[in-house]
Amino acid sequence: MARVESDNASLDAEAVVPSLIQGQIAYLYKNKMLGIWSNILLSAILLFFLWIHLPNQKLPLLIWFGLILTLSIIRFLMGRTFESEKEYTQQELTGWANRHVFFTTLISTIWGLAGIVFFPNDLAHQALIAFVLFSVLLAAIPTLAASRIAYYLQIFVTLVPIIILLFLHKGQSQSLLALAMIVASITLMLIANYIYQLLFELQNTQVALQDLADTDQLTQVANRRHFDREFKVEWRRAMRERTPISLLLIDVDLFKKYNDTYGHQAGDVCLQKIAECLSSITHRPADLASRYGGEEFAVLLPVTKQKDAAMLAERLRRKIEALHIEHSESSFGVVTVSIGVSCCEPAWDFSGNTPEEEQKVVFPAMLLTAADNALYVSKEQGRNQVSEQGCGDQKLSKILQDQAENSDR
Ligand code: GH3
Ligand code: MG
Ligand code: MG
Repeated sequence: MARVESDNASLDAEAVVPSLIQGQIAYLYKNKMLGIWSNILLSAILLFFLWIHLPNQKLPLLIWFGLILTLSIIRFLMGRTFESEKEYTQQELTGWANRHVFFTTLISTIWGLAGIVFFPNDLAHQALIAFVLFSVLLAAIPTLAASRIAYYLQIFVTLVPIIILLFLHKGQSQSLLALAMIVASITLMLIANYIYQLLFELQNTQVALQDLADTDQLTQVANRRHFDREFKVEWRRAMRERTPISLLLIDVDLFKKYNDTYGHQAGDVCLQKIAECLSSITHRPADLASRYGGEEFAVLLPVTKQKDAAMLAERLRRKIEALHIEHSESSFGVVTVSIGVSCCEPAWDFSGNTPEEEQKVVFPAMLLTAADNALYVSKEQGRNQVSEQGCGDQKLSKILQDQAENSDR
């Protein structure tokens, strides 16, 4: 799980933040009204004054105004498709952030161009452009939520062109105005830095709280809440990318008797050791070891075939047996686990016309049911073993049927 040391907040923030979190991007798009209205209003003000002052430049002014308007509307419409309630993957979040930064930088560049193309000769209009450009940058502050570098870039592309032209103008007042703009830019960068640190610390707190809410306090692996959430995300991904997804359900054998014999506290220590084994066998970033409840654990293995999941389960079973935690009430003499392995290839195509094609539709509950059935088989067949069942397999019902038939005889 992502854990960010808040002590590092004063260091280079971009290097410490492990990843974008949903809240950052949600914040970015929540402020889309500010983005569109500030651009429309400020570009209309500039258009109005320059329209009178530069009568020969009416067409370029209209083109410039149209560009600002079009890009602001595109960015606004794009923001409307962001669903803050939906769980996005890290890759998707980065995509959203990049698209926002791209459009904002493009809009800022067009603002910066206004400083060159429509550079007026008199100080009053030059000061007006400078004032409007600063207001544009103030309205772009939400960009800080995505990246500090991106915001510095906005400052650069918006202000540098006009500052250079003011210096080139060689008038004393223009040079003073340019100097004032440099001082104001530095101040803006310092303020931006301060706001960024603040946002970064808030993000740290949010990540730390999320970690706490997602972790089982006894075993330090993910809790059921976290598992349920990741399960949904990974299922959607498996559906999209048409990859298999596997699940291990692990149940400690005769654990009630263990508690009765060695005490509840020893039971807790035993669960902690088993959880450590779980964590040690999951290596890929998307693998998720979790406490499913009581003395049951679950390991989610995205992009993993049943054969590989079963091999991993067997390794885990042996590893727990090799812990040699004494259990006098078990026929194995040590604490053991039973494991149920299942694997599904999520499908969503309901278009099949024949019953066989319709049967291909697979639901998330089928993965859980299959693993649970496989676990039941492991218990029934003597515990301390691994059983497998694919999605929709009827293995368990056949075993139960056989058992019923045997007992009838
Ligand atoms: P089986 O092999 O069929 O799974 O038998 P079992 O005894 O493990 O299963 P059962 O469901 O009868 O008992 C589960 C036990 O796990 C009972 C409960 O007290 C114990 N347990 C659940 N959560 C904890 C916990 O957090 N700490 C401890 N020490 N024990 C727990
Ligand atoms: Mg149980
Ligand atoms: Mg048990």
